[in-house]
Amino acid sequence: MKLSLIVLFVFFGCQLASAQTYVEVQDLTISLSEQTYAAPVKNQAVTGEQLSIGGEAFEKGIGVHSHSVIKINMNNGSHFSAKIGINDSKIDYESEVVKTIPLTDGKRVFYEVTSSKKQFIGVEGESGSVDQGTVIFKVIHNGEEIYSSGVMRRGDKAKEVNLDVKGGVLDLVVEDAGDGSSGDHAVWADPKIDYFEIAPVIIPGDFVSEKVEQKSDIKAALREKLMRLDPVELPIDQPSYDWLIDNSKAKAQVYRNGKDHLVLSNGLIARTFTLVPNLATIDYSNLMTGETLLRAVSSEGVLTLDGRSYDIGGLSPQPEYGYTLMKWTDQLTATNNSFQIQDFEVKEITDRLAWKRTRWAMNEKMPTGKEVVFTLSKNDILVKVHFALYDGIPTLSKWIEVINDSDLMVQLNSFKLEQLAVVEGENLVGTPDHWVTPNLHVQSDYAFGGMQQKTSQKTTYWEKDPRYTTQTNYPMNVPCLLEVKPPLGPETAIAVSDTLTTFRVWEMPMDSKEEERKGLFIRKMYRTISPWTTENPIFLHLTSTDPEVVKTAVDQCAEVGYEMIILSFGSGMDMEDESSDNYAKFSQLREYANAKGIELGGYSLLSSRWISEEVDVINPETGKRGGMIFGSSPCLSSEWGYEYFRKVKKFFEKTGMQVFENDGSYPGNVCASTSHAHHNGLGDSQWKQYAQIQGLYKWMRSKGIYMNVPDFYVNSGTNKTGIGYREVNWSLPRERHLMHGRLNIYDGLWDRTPSMCWTFVPLTQYHGGGAVATLEPLKDHLEDYENHMMQNYGSGVQACYRGARLYDAPETKKLVKEVVRWYKEYRHILNSDIIHLRRPSGKDWDGFLHANPTTKEKGLAMFFNPTDRDMEREIKLPLYYTGLTDVAKVREKEGDSRAYTLDRAYRIRLQVTIPANSYTWYVIE
Ligand SMILES: [Zn+2]
Repeated sequence: MKLSLIVLFVFFGCQLASAQTYVEVQDLTISLSEQTYAAPVKNQAVTGEQLSIGGEAFEKGIGVHSHSVIKINMNNGSHFSAKIGINDSKIDYESEVVKTIPLTDGKRVFYEVTSSKKQFIGVEGESGSVDQGTVIFKVIHNGEEIYSSGVMRRGDKAKEVNLDVKGGVLDLVVEDAGDGSSGDHAVWADPKIDYFEIAPVIIPGDFVSEKVEQKSDIKAALREKLMRLDPVELPIDQPSYDWLIDNSKAKAQVYRNGKDHLVLSNGLIARTFTLVPNLATIDYSNLMTGETLLRAVSSEGVLTLDGRSYDIGGLSPQPEYGYTLMKWTDQLTATNNSFQIQDFEVKEITDRLAWKRTRWAMNEKMPTGKEVVFTLSKNDILVKVHFALYDGIPTLSKWIEVINDSDLMVQLNSFKLEQLAVVEGENLVGTPDHWVTPNLHVQSDYAFGGMQQKTSQKTTYWEKDPRYTTQTNYPMNVPCLLEVKPPLGPETAIAVSDTLTTFRVWEMPMDSKEEERKGLFIRKMYRTISPWTTENPIFLHLTSTDPEVVKTAVDQCAEVGYEMIILSFGSGMDMEDESSDNYAKFSQLREYANAKGIELGGYSLLSSRWISEEVDVINPETGKRGGMIFGSSPCLSSEWGYEYFRKVKKFFEKTGMQVFENDGSYPGNVCASTSHAHHNGLGDSQWKQYAQIQGLYKWMRSKGIYMNVPDFYVNSGTNKTGIGYREVNWSLPRERHLMHGRLNIYDGLWDRTPSMCWTFVPLTQYHGGGAVATLEPLKDHLEDYENHMMQNYGSGVQACYRGARLYDAPETKKLVKEVVRWYKEYRHILNSDIIHLRRPSGKDWDGFLHANPTTKEKGLAMFFNPTDRDMEREIKLPLYYTGLTDVAKVREKEGDSRAYTLDRAYRIRLQVTIPANSYTWYVIE
């Protein structure tokens, strides 16, 4: 016992010794602070100018305006330091872009207003313009003044503040020195707090003048509207079925519970809101497991408008944030300074983008379900909070609209679309390198810079919850507050009467930690919310635009049953060429292809190009281009960017082409240029460029154009991403391609469906490797060609068969035609999800099983033998996801079927013979 105590002491001692550190106050949530005019600004003066006191410039700090209070919960803070003074200013208040609005006290507020930006620059003084300003800085600790600067004027040298302060609450105050607030543009430069283990946090100002009270007529109207909904008892029963086998009973509905609560449920999940005394989520249940997801009540998100943060609804304070007793929720009060609920509406889900169906798709339907829209308001700004709950899947979607109903432009600096206090994924006393986060899949359609969801997602943040002071983790680091927000901006002006709509987030609680089952949840989600990803045409990647070569390829494709040709990179295709000859050439080729039942399209490179110093994204670190993702890229919000989009659309309109392969899509590059025509600077550069690229993809989706884009843009309308391969592997000797290809398939299809991905087959040389790395001449490598096709078609993954032709001899043609016929015969089951059986190792068999309870064939298993000897094996085949429960009829290829009884784990034992360096397949009915 004694020994373990010593060990514990040493353990904690080490931890504490390494935890001494500091925070810079401007990096905390300063937008929660109270300030009479405008709001505190990070690393700038309150007027947007550079930080500068008495001629001394500062990189870091906070610009404020009297009267201002920044309230800090010190936690284990021990020392505060800063330099203080009034900011130097060069603003010309007589300038044309200066506009004023009168306040209720008769004073006017000055703004610099352009068509896309609004900047606060001051408040009117006695002179009728903005004064020079005088202020007093004070630091208050637990209500007691521990520092006062005395009166400071513009031009005074910065004073240093150094204070030992342990724990408690620290207020950083700026007062007006008795002569009014005009010109009081004060600065806390380099503000820093040293601490030990538990970091200080900014806590919301008192906002006593911003108390939110629900009007009795609004409360009555909300209750009256709730009464029209069907009642439901809580908790809702757990479903008696597995929705992955049969989801027909999972229908979204909107209910009332009691007189104040609205419940959105489809039998798989349920989210419960209270509307009194303000809107807030008070429960969020995973009905599949019967467990609640919600640890505590928060708000429906946060808007930072003109520098100030406002909760969207929200209730507080809860006595405890580790769990919630429902009786507490009746006693919570509306959070001060929050948006207040006015109304709500219930309707059917509408299509989130237009999808023109022009080709085969496994799922041709857009999702159905119910949508609830809550309307909230604050100071003539309206917020519409949308929730869409789908039929058939445990997925809820959320987005918000911000509507400017005031008579002056408003700046949306940032937003949080979701702020959920979620039950923690794990509890540990110390802090690990990687936390297990809650078993909730979260993703949005604001995604870029990666081929997979995991690397492209930019909007899911698992944050600490400083309110949760009873957590096991001593420094309170448990990531248990889900925040959904853009990484930068939008820093975008909303004009009078205009609306800004955010991206959408999808939330999907899991009922298991098993990898295949989690993957099946996610794959079913894509099939439902982005059903265009189930289109899966058979295509050739043609390396030439020579009309004769194209026509020959079209003829070949038509002969063997191919459906599409992409004129690939290196083919000479140029969509930016606006000459009538260019349009005529591709228009004629497209007509020729269409006449034979083949769709035609091509390739265009966007990012990773170096255009010019004027056009390319500007690196915020250097003020020059270069050093960005892919080195450099054109800024999509420059004139060049707008021209690129115009030219690409024009090309498709002029030629009628049907496929777009967009390489190096927008990777998320920010841009610090202030001279580009269509964004103001760094703050709005990512938001505005993203709107450009997403706008193009949505436009193409509405035209029925098929889209291959390497990056993960599927929720923005594209069809496929790269499955994830190493390009130069296709320059290795031919015999190594097959294993790499199968490894890519096996690893790439855990959380994506086969139709969402493309892989690769080099018919001709790709990145080098010479003749031993190519399949051409095809007739000399028939066995390899067949194996490539069978593992790709057999997995449902289309490949870029890259070359100038599909076949070079009658025997090659016969082979391609037979494989395509086979694929089309089993197209539904081959496009169904795969169940991973065994990863390719090179040492023994490998394989996967397609399973689908709703198709004619319930399963199709593919087995591969990478060795030089025929193989006989007894393989345990897991048939749970085929939906079969007792007996499976199984046949090898087109042979006779044999009945197998399923064991208690829904498995059968199958005797399989796999020929050397080859494959076999079995059908389960
Ligand atoms: Zn730019």
